[in-house]
Amino acid sequence: MDYDVLILGGGIIGCAAAYELSKYNLNIAVIEKDYDIADDISLVNTAIVFDGSETKDDLMSKLEHIGNSMLFDITKKFNVPFKRVGSLKIVQDEEGVKILEDMYNRAKKRGIENIYLIDDKAVYDIEPHLKINVKKALYSGNTAVICPYDLAIAYAEVAFDNGVIFRLEEIVQDIQKITKGFKVTTNKNKFTCRVVINTIPGDNYTIDLSRSTIKNDHNRIQYLLLDEKFKCRLSNVVMKVKGEDNLINQVPTLSGGTLIGINTNKSLGFKELLEEASNLIPEVTKDDVNSIFYDNYSKDLMFIDDSNSTKGYIKVTGKHYAEITIAPSLGKMLCETVVSNLSSTLKKNFIDKRRDFYRFRDMTKEQRNEAISLDKRYGKIICLCNKVSEGEIVDAIRRPLGARTVEGVKRRTGATFGNCHGAYCISKIIDILAREMDKKPTEIVGDSKNSKVLASRIKEFNDM
Ligand SMILES: Cc1cc2nc3c(=O)[nH]c(=O)nc-3n(C[C@H](O)[C@H](O)[C@H](O)COP(=O)(O)OP(=O)(O)OC[C@H]3O[C@@H](n4cnc5c(N)ncnc54)[C@H](O)[C@@H]3O)c2cc1C
Repeated sequence: MDYDVLILGGGIIGCAAAYELSKYNLNIAVIEKDYDIADDISLVNTAIVFDGSETKDDLMSKLEHIGNSMLFDITKKFNVPFKRVGSLKIVQDEEGVKILEDMYNRAKKRGIENIYLIDDKAVYDIEPHLKINVKKALYSGNTAVICPYDLAIAYAEVAFDNGVIFRLEEIVQDIQKITKGFKVTTNKNKFTCRVVINTIPGDNYTIDLSRSTIKNDHNRIQYLLLDEKFKCRLSNVVMKVKGEDNLINQVPTLSGGTLIGINTNKSLGFKELLEEASNLIPEVTKDDVNSIFYDNYSKDLMFIDDSNSTKGYIKVTGKHYAEITIAPSLGKMLCETVVSNLSSTLKKNFIDKRRDFYRFRDMTKEQRNEAISLDKRYGKIICLCNKVSEGEIVDAIRRPLGARTVEGVKRRTGATFGNCHGAYCISKIIDILAREMDKKPTEIVGDSKNSKVLASRIKEFNDM
């Protein structure tokens, strides 16, 4: 057999499973079609860590609740930005109160602590900047915010340092059962393995033909990212609830900004989005908005099919709004299933540590001077908005599973996420990538094979 375990898909779930399994004496590979791992994570540096109180599904609730508490330790260990900010689900009518009461009773029955049903006065005590009418709210002290791709990258880096092979730019085309395991066919290779963990959402292969498919029901969510200078920022995650859905969310981002998410099936223009946002935060004006974007939001359940696990095929299908939250618990659950089936033993030399790195913007003056004395590239700021130094960008490229694209550098360092959206630094990032990878600047790509950033050289600039 080529591998003991093949993990298909290098998203957050695949990377979490790879990390957990890398603790054991197993020969493991992750197959990912993109240039980089976790490339599908929504492009916002802040995701909500749910606590399992909002979902009606008991398994998802359990995975969220365990994931929430695991993330506290994991983020500390791997130096991933994480903050427990709390959340308020607010309602404005009696129908809403009934929904919150059901949610509260469900949470209590599930043993979720630190959840309170509160009246309007208590809401304004917790969130003095909230200016809209509130009838009742469900407060959770468990809700947190996290940098999602930093978590995925940390999982992958530690798995890589413990021997997991990452096969990037390789597309899974088929999975077949063979006598003592499986054959996985990609666009480049054919591999045999004892166990397959398939985290590719939606696709069906020869092995899946007799299985039912899960239908993904997408809602559109449109975002307004407000400037860090916006004064009426709410410090909790605040969700305005109508029926079973969150109509509008405001999330305090880890970099000090404010993200407003508007759930809608329509494509709204800027003016309409501002009007919707003002239903939660009346003070917001067009001058506060830094950027606008949209994504597809999945309400559906994940479908975790381990019915064939004794024969070695585990399939995780579907998309879910809380996949970042459940990644640690689901990764552990997948690992336990595999380990018990293969009777694997723990590695004696497992290194549960991410290689050190500097985050210049979070350092004191003394720490910065020390870093610069070791490598003067830490003294050269490339992204002025987010204070990202050349040293950090070089490290992001040279690390295990390092960045090879502009997008990879952005996600790993936070460069270009500031007010100028990369107008100042993007050409410098391209130059550094080209120098480090021994390529021409015109060969550097945004995030995939055909996404060149520079079309061609301009004749006049011969030494570009
Ligand atoms: C708008 C939005 C907001 C969200 N907010 C939150 C939040 O606040 N909190 C939270 O907990 N979660 C949130 N999520 C969920 C979360 O970000 C994503 O759902 C999650 O990153 C998906 O992880 P995954 O690993 O399961 O799937 P994916 O990231 O989809 O992983 C699957 C991987 O498989 C690869 N792949 C696909 N086909 C093939 C193939 N044929 N061969 C090889 N590889 C293949 C893909 O490239 C991908 O990397 C949000 C999602 C969205 C869209």
